[in-house]
Amino acid sequence: MSLDATATPVPAGPSTCTVVVPGPIFGAFTYHLGSGQPLPLVGARVRVPFGQSERVALVVETNGSSVEDGPTTRPITAVIDQQPLLDDATLACLRWAAAYYHHPLGEVMFAALPKALRGERSLQVEGLRLTVAGREALETGVVRGQRQREALLALHEAGDGVPATALAPAAVRRRLLERGWAEAVSMVTPADWPAAADGKSTVAPSLTAEQASAVAAVAAGLGGFGAWLLQGVTGSGKTEVYLALIERVLERGEQVLVVVPEISLTPQLIERFARRLDVVPAVLHSGLADGERLSAWRATAAGTAQLVIGTRSAAFVPLARAGLILVDEEHDGALKQQEGFLYHARDVLVWRARQLAVPIVLGSATPSLETLRHAWEGRYRHLTLSERATGASMPAIRCLDIRGQPMEGGLSPALMRAIERHLLAGSQVMLYLNRRGYASSLLCHACGWVAGCPHCDAFLTWHRQIARLRCHHCGFEQGVPLDCPSCQAPISVRGLGTEQLEDVLAARFPGFGIVRLDRDATAGKGVMAESLSRIAAGEARLVVGTQMLVKGHDFPGVTLVGVVNADQALFAADFRGPERFAQSLLQVAGRAGRAERPGEVLVQSHDPDHPVLRRLLRQDYSAVMAAELAEREQAELPPTRFAALLRADAPSADVARAFLERLAAELRETTGEPLAVWGPVPAPLARRAGRYRFQLLLLARVRSALHRVLWRVDESVGSRRPGKGLRWSIDVDPIDLA
Ligand code: ADP
Ligand code: ZN
Ligand code: ZN
Repeated sequence: MSLDATATPVPAGPSTCTVVVPGPIFGAFTYHLGSGQPLPLVGARVRVPFGQSERVALVVETNGSSVEDGPTTRPITAVIDQQPLLDDATLACLRWAAAYYHHPLGEVMFAALPKALRGERSLQVEGLRLTVAGREALETGVVRGQRQREALLALHEAGDGVPATALAPAAVRRRLLERGWAEAVSMVTPADWPAAADGKSTVAPSLTAEQASAVAAVAAGLGGFGAWLLQGVTGSGKTEVYLALIERVLERGEQVLVVVPEISLTPQLIERFARRLDVVPAVLHSGLADGERLSAWRATAAGTAQLVIGTRSAAFVPLARAGLILVDEEHDGALKQQEGFLYHARDVLVWRARQLAVPIVLGSATPSLETLRHAWEGRYRHLTLSERATGASMPAIRCLDIRGQPMEGGLSPALMRAIERHLLAGSQVMLYLNRRGYASSLLCHACGWVAGCPHCDAFLTWHRQIARLRCHHCGFEQGVPLDCPSCQAPISVRGLGTEQLEDVLAARFPGFGIVRLDRDATAGKGVMAESLSRIAAGEARLVVGTQMLVKGHDFPGVTLVGVVNADQALFAADFRGPERFAQSLLQVAGRAGRAERPGEVLVQSHDPDHPVLRRLLRQDYSAVMAAELAEREQAELPPTRFAALLRADAPSADVARAFLERLAAELRETTGEPLAVWGPVPAPLARRAGRYRFQLLLLARVRSALHRVLWRVDESVGSRRPGKGLRWSIDVDPIDLA
């Protein structure tokens, strides 16, 4: 038996704490306290020995009974925080999210902290606190020096102490300490936030009847949970509804959290909010310097910041006095994190709203089918704004049949003529190119034939890299035909890009100024802002772009929107293709004719009779989505089923495929749950950076069944030796099957 003192069993009692560490490590670890160490609080950081090194860890439980490492727990090295960084409610939310998305708790918790707090940076500073002698000195008036008096008064007001640096000058501080009027303390830096902007408030317009009743409905539910869908056509004044609601919540002394999908949307929103509400919004997004983000985060957690605007990661910020949560553009895929911890900010926020007992409003002109279904089935309450608030009319949408048309850089003669007409009338023109995903469908330009799977009711995905067509449901695969099976015309497989479009337009319409908005063109710092201001100033009359055009920007001079390639979305292998197309089409169409001149939208298609397109031309989004829902129900797809996508990749295709094949076989045979297992099939981008990628789709009618299966997956994978170089992940509620 060892006499080594460190191996002495620690009494399992008031001296252990359980922590999580950052990184892809499942599970929590128990440590005991060193002698004389104070028990750290749950939600505080500590430093612990971990393997051969030391790590910063977060305390998730104290005095827990589950001493996993037995009696030989190691001691904590140091306690970093005297106060918790994360409160109980936020910790509970993170636990739920880690379990729901099957992601390691440590990684989830550290991701929720601002970067500045993921290491050992301490929030403790030296401070001064008033002593009893100090108070007496103040009361009896023996303090002579004006500065000493002021300093004592400041200490008196603060109560808990004042950071030394906030109490200048040093000589005065020294005097107070010498006389025993103040004592030195270690304190947490206060999470201060400016109380008000400089008062240049704009005046609210009087609300339309629809806006007013939306505001009244949500306002009546303040103080308790309720989920609301605010479905308002583009330009209908959703933001005004948010503003009116925020005003009410701020009057109650509570906080509002606003989450938007894109950083680029925040500046205009912040500006508009700040000017109307006379508050300084705390902003949380990845574009901030660590220090800025830290103070905004802390002010939110402490409740000193009343209005918080952020992108998806703000979904996890602690809120001391939550009153309302708003999610703008709730349909937008950017609200879902696509790597690492794969959470959906909107879904997390609905959970939090219920937990915090506050209303949540999900706003969009084109809500996701998930959210619409909740509204139709009564789980969310449905608010609609059916008209533009300014009285501008909605643009007319028309379809251009481009089968067999002589195209120039992807543009048909009819679209060219329309562009010319609008430019000559002094307007701006916007051309939208759909370029989502890496692969798309293969279609015949002459007759509109689209490559479909002979075994499934699905379109084949065209993998350009390897020149093959594949079915994502059953794995069927074939080469790319040279001629169209329907009309025998040669099939051309040219891709189309925004740069090519830009070149063609520059040659055809010289002197009108072109701006290209896509990921490549706007990658540089400040380029996006510069492009937007060129459009706003009317210097650029032609705007060419991808998905980026769709996002909320207001360009009053635009009267024509051309949708260059509608078909790629309609015939996508991803079952959400038509939904996404409807959303981008109506969003991009919403950019047209927002001011006095009426707008026109032209959609180029090889299948002008496609039912989704027909319904969209009537601008009946709800009808499009109702039909989609019926199809999803029939095909047993989300949102009528709960889905999880298992992805695997490895340097060898066999390793990745075999890993998922074995899982698929296990799940098919042994779970006993009503579960559909699709695949494994190669991912749409089948090879990336020398790694082969495969995926397996699981669909269940009941959410709990899906999660039971996923726990089995975790167990099964945990108990076997992974293949060479294999990486795998679980994506719960996947929104992108690519
Ligand atoms: P959305 O967020 O739905 O796209 P916005 O709130 O940005 O719409 O409003 C679109 C335009 O209509 C803005 O220029 C806004 O100032 C204006 N607007 C909104 N509500 C009203 C109203 N009640 N009266 C007059 N103008 C309004
Ligand atoms: Zn053909
Ligand atoms: Zn198939």
